Amino acid sequence: MELWLPICLVPHKKEINQIMEESETIGSKRKNWAGNYTFKAKNLYEPSTVAEIQDLVKRLDQIKALGSKHCFNDIADSSKNQISTKQLNKVLGLDKDKKTLTVEAGARYGDFCKELHAQGFALHNLASLPHITVAGACATATHGSGVENGNLATAVVAIELVMPNGELKNLDKSDPDFYAVVVGLGAFGIITKLTLEVQETFPVQQNVFLNLPLESLELHFDAIMSSGYSVSLFTDWRDKKISEVWVKQKVAEASVQMEADFYGATAATKNIHPFLAQSAECCSEQMGMPGPWYDRLPHFKMDFNPSAGEELQSEFFVPRENAVAAILAIEKLNDQIFPHLFISEIRAIAADDFWMSPCYHQDSVAIHFTWKPHVKEVMELIPKIEGTLAAFNGKPHWGKLFTMNPKALKQQYEKYPDFLELTKKYDRERKFKNHFLSTNIY
Ligand SMILES: Cc1cc2nc3c(=O)[nH]c(=O)nc-3n(C[C@H](O)[C@H](O)[C@H](O)COP(=O)(O)OP(=O)(O)OC[C@H]3O[C@@H](n4cnc5c(N)ncnc54)[C@H](O)[C@@H]3O)c2cc1C
Repeated sequence: MELWLPICLVPHKKEINQIMEESETIGSKRKNWAGNYTFKAKNLYEPSTVAEIQDLVKRLDQIKALGSKHCFNDIADSSKNQISTKQLNKVLGLDKDKKTLTVEAGARYGDFCKELHAQGFALHNLASLPHITVAGACATATHGSGVENGNLATAVVAIELVMPNGELKNLDKSDPDFYAVVVGLGAFGIITKLTLEVQETFPVQQNVFLNLPLESLELHFDAIMSSGYSVSLFTDWRDKKISEVWVKQKVAEASVQMEADFYGATAATKNIHPFLAQSAECCSEQMGMPGPWYDRLPHFKMDFNPSAGEELQSEFFVPRENAVAAILAIEKLNDQIFPHLFISEIRAIAADDFWMSPCYHQDSVAIHFTWKPHVKEVMELIPKIEGTLAAFNGKPHWGKLFTMNPKALKQQYEKYPDFLELTKKYDRERKFKNHFLSTNIY
């Protein structure tokens, strides 16, 4: 096992009580990244060791782990106590022989991917932005794109968990509970370490094409989504077109070139932002320029904040075979959607084995909405979108806004009864219960 110094700052140790006092002074003013949700938990703890987490979990009753706060709903909130993994952000080791990387739960992808690349390795995929923690991203089945790429949790091969009684438990793929706990919605305890499978580093080139006719997407959907290692479609649902197609190809396998006419779309002539009107300064390099995987697979660079956070998001997964029909059905709502939308993104995700992953045993396509901060209008529109997608077995992203009836939601998950049973076994006293879990799971 080879160690490197984490490029993220190793924080100085603070006494837990001191942190608690500080947090009590900011009290209920703490918000999530988007600013649309104010945390209700009165106490925020920022422990810097696993032992401190164990002690807190043993002592406290109502608790929730908090990552980088990028969820749009109350999934990371607690009626009393949040335990942030902010100070648990170190890289613990790269095993070059086993091709695994072990990180603390609060490490953000952007903290270590550059160094991982420098050491000759890569992760299989990344989300649209690298600012999220590994444990928080995996807990909600966060994904990137790629017909053969599973969500980010599919890279996890082992975890260390602080159980509700404060004891440590290690789980790997040989343990059937593993497939419930990794995408665990924060219900089983606090994950403190994750070991991720890595592969040899690979360069990626990103090409963007503009104005793909919707009828072309309808005819060639599978070919378009398979045209790169990771493909994203951006649309505002207007004028029967996909405004931007982002094709990220492994350089060694690249077949799509800049000059090409891409199923009726034309090659962009400069770097562009998913919201066409915005500057592309914060976006990962395009125009077919090869670069490391970590600097091409996310749409946004680590050093830049993708936006001010004044946005809302929701996203729905449908089985891949239903994707075209679902997209065409959503397009019919375009007049209602457009006034409140910044942009929509359509991505492919490969099937996985995580019980509460929306892609459990199902190749899927996710239809995402980045909304303007029009809370009332958006919350009125979401049920219409959910109603439309019900015919296509649509399931919401756990970390984004949704209104789906909990009964209908549970029925979408074949392994839901086993998941519920296992949460009872791990957390008899329901220390990790919060409003989100009470509503949607328990
Ligand atoms: C700008 C933006 C872009 C995004 N892009 C994507 C994208 O491309 N693809 C996608 O799928 N999603 C995307 N998301 C959603 C985001 O990835 C998820 O909301 C993710 O869960 C956020 O991780 P986090 O570290 O902020 O977790 P938090 O929001 O802090 O927590 C999320 C959940 O994880 C649990 N959790 C956190 N840490 C631990 C731990 N150590 N142990 C146990 N449970 C834990 C929390 O209790 C909570 O239930 C995006 C969000 C934003 C704001």
